[in-house]
This record gives sequence, structure tokens and C-alpha cells, in this order.
Amino acid sequence: MNEPLNALDLSYEEWIEACANKWSLPRYRADQLCQWIYEKKVFSVHEMTNLSKELRERLAYELLILPPILAAEETSKDGTRKFLWQLYDGERIETVFLSHGNHTTACLSSQAGCKLNCSFCATGQSGFARDLSAGEIVGQLLAMEKRLGANIGNVVFMGMGEPLLNREALFKAITILNSPKMRNMGARHITVSTAGIVPGILELAEFPVPVRLSVSLHAPNDALRNKLMPVNKKYPIGPLMDALKTYQQKTGERITVEYVMIRNVNDEPEHAYETAALFSGMGVYVNLIPYNPVTDRYQRSNPERIKVFSAALSRLGIENEIRKEKGTDINAACGQLRRREQGN
Ligand code: SAH
Repeated sequence: MNEPLNALDLSYEEWIEACANKWSLPRYRADQLCQWIYEKKVFSVHEMTNLSKELRERLAYELLILPPILAAEETSKDGTRKFLWQLYDGERIETVFLSHGNHTTACLSSQAGCKLNCSFCATGQSGFARDLSAGEIVGQLLAMEKRLGANIGNVVFMGMGEPLLNREALFKAITILNSPKMRNMGARHITVSTAGIVPGILELAEFPVPVRLSVSLHAPNDALRNKLMPVNKKYPIGPLMDALKTYQQKTGERITVEYVMIRNVNDEPEHAYETAALFSGMGVYVNLIPYNPVTDRYQRSNPERIKVFSAALSRLGIENEIRKEKGTDINAACGQLRRREQGN
């Protein structure tokens, strides 16, 4: 018997190759299989009614279609939904569904846990388990779309983990999502968010699918950023800014900057000035995110402070917006649901 294949890990080229060489099937069978999985969200070969019974029986043993298993789900008053998934080895990851009118977004995880240990983040506090495979990344979207009974318009890699520390799987997952014969999601609808992994940003600048880039800055100088984000010791602000400039030159893209507002830590007007100085002359859009308290160490900035910060940035020519909070009543900040279910 042939070794079974893990369907969600296959790129379109790998589908074609498996159909030709493993199963001696014509190319259109690859298209049919992809259509069942990516368009119709059918994960059982037995339900693929345009394949002969004989072929279905054969593929049932040679093709594993394994989206993650739902372990917990919560729905917020504002329509935000949070899913906790269990993987084959018992690891658990989170995905969030956000809806703003007819604009919908899936916030996907790229790793089970995270290595970066940002001092304000819930995911960092429960440690790193492992990288996700391309199929486990894509599977989060498919499983969620199947549950919702509808396609989701956008994907952001702002769930658990650092996507640019799992580049091989991330890039493959993006290629699968983007492929016209597979999920067919436009590159402009996919955003990679990074804590500032310099070699990853440079690789993304060369990546053929022009996805959007978002950078979690949170502090405009090394002394403060080192305290909040230990990754800054490896990739300080200077080299990070150089990488962002290279990315912008190569892609012509505007970069989104995430800035979590933490009371009396990074929310002084001088931090706004420093931030503006960093990005002067670049095309950026700053998202100011009220901190979602997940540790006793930090509190959210008060709303007046956030408004002053935002106004200061605007006056200094930096476009910005205060992010409307979503799903705070259901622990929608990344890492929170997993932590509660594990009791740590
Ligand atoms: N590692 C990537 C993606 C995962 S985190 C990155 O750092 O960008 C996604 C975003 O949520 C990041 O901007 C992160 O800093 C932010 N975040 C983490 N914990 C948060 C919290 N408690 N409240 C608000 N935002 C938080």
C-alpha cells in the first residue's frame, strides 16, 4: 500500500504530482479534490460525489484530510468568536474570528506557544511547544469556515506564535491560501504580523506572494523595547528599521505598525514623538491598541492618554487609528483561552 499523504500540507504542484505518480490520475482530479477541500470544506473522501466509488475507497486510505479538532468555542457580544483547537499530538492552538460589518477576518496561529516571551503577552507566559505545519495553519481557516458555513475575507497572522520564526510552513500556507485552484485568497487579504525578525522581514520582501506586513513595535527606543520584548536584544530598532526600509523599497508597500498602549509604560507624549521620528519619511499606518490586561504587571492606558498619543502622532504626520476593541468579554487576546483551559 502507498504511504498516506497529509492532504492539507500539499501545495498545488504536490497535488498534481501525487495524482500523476502516486495514483495515476489525470490532472483534473487534483482540481476536483482541491475544490472539495478548499471551496466546499468537505473533509471526508466518502462525500466527494464526483469521484467513483472505487476511487473514493482507495483515496480514503491514502489521503488524510485532518483539520484541527474543536476543543472549545466562545462567542462575544460583538460577534467575535474564539476557537481553541486540538492537534493530533494534543497541542492546543487558538484562532479568532472577527467581523466588522461585511468585512471578516480570521486571526491564525503559526506556532503552538511562542519563543519570544514578550512580557505583556499571554502566549509567551505558557511557553513554546512546536512549530505548526502548513496544513495546520491552513486547517485553522478551513475548520472555522466550515463551522461558520461561509468563507472569511481576510487572514492575519496575529494568533499564537511568531510567524517569521516558522517561515517554511508560513510561506507554504500562504501559497496554498493564495493559489487560484485552492483557497484563492488574494494576497492583499493576507497580513503577516511580526515582532521584528529581521531576516524574516528581508525574506518576506522577496516572497512572490505580495502579502501585507505588520510590525509589533510597542516601544520606540531600545531601552524600553528590551524590557517589553526580549527579541529586541537580538534585533534592535536600528537593524529593524533598516529591514523595514528595505522591505518598503522592494515592495512599495505601506507597513502597519502595532502599538499596544500600556499605562505609564509606553504611553507618554515623548514616546509618540520618538515613534514619529522613527518613521518619518516612510509610509506607515499606526494601530494604537488598548492593552488587554493578561498579567498583574501592566494595565491599559486610560482613554484620554490614548487620545493624546494619537493626536500627537497625527500632528507629526503619522497616520494612525485607535483600534476598537473586540471580544474582551471572551478573552480574545492571544493565548488567553488556551491558558485558561490548561489552568496555568
Ligand atoms: N508574534 C507576532 C504575532 C502574534 S501577536 C507579533 O508579535 O506581531 C499579535 C499582536 O497582539 C502583537 O502585536 C502583540 O504584541 C499583540 N498582543 C499580545 N498580547 C496582547 C495583549 N495582552 N493586549 C493587546 N495586544 C496584545
